[in-house]
Amino acid sequence: MERTLSIVKPDGVKKNILGEVIRRFQKSGIRIAAIKMIHLSKAEAEGFYAVHKERPFFSSLTDFMSSGPCVVMVLEGEDVIRKNRELMGATNPEEAAVGTIRKDFAASIEQNAVHGSDAPETAAFEISYFFNALEIH
Ligand code: GDP
Repeated sequence: MERTLSIVKPDGVKKNILGEVIRRFQKSGIRIAAIKMIHLSKAEAEGFYAVHKERPFFSSLTDFMSSGPCVVMVLEGEDVIRKNRELMGATNPEEAAVGTIRKDFAASIEQNAVHGSDAPETAAFEISYFFNALEIH
């Protein structure tokens, strides 16, 4: 059994696709082990995306991520890191496969509706960034 962090980003919350994203997870047999809505400060967004701090889009990305509330979730299931990335689609919606969340709902490579951890180590860091053990069921 594996865990991963999912975020419905501020653009996704504004577009009211939260229910649709959760529906896709649950239809795929993924279990939601924790969920909450949070409005990140700029500093909190910078901490979350610290691995990207040298990238040219870091300032714009962290402005976007702190522009409105997002919904953070811990997903649980067999091979859930890969399964979630498959449901999300490629970072750039123009390159995302048909039927993926980003293909269907993302506006741009930055405002791309959802986040999903990409490996067990990043999942552990990202889950602990938002949730303590008592909040994960
Ligand atoms: P992910 O794992 O698919 O989310 O992609 P990355 O870890 O490479 O990038 C993290 C986030 O930064 C992406 O989800 C986008 O929101 C944003 N991002 C990635 N590449 C670019 C880019 O070239 N330009 C801009 N403006 N944002 C980007």
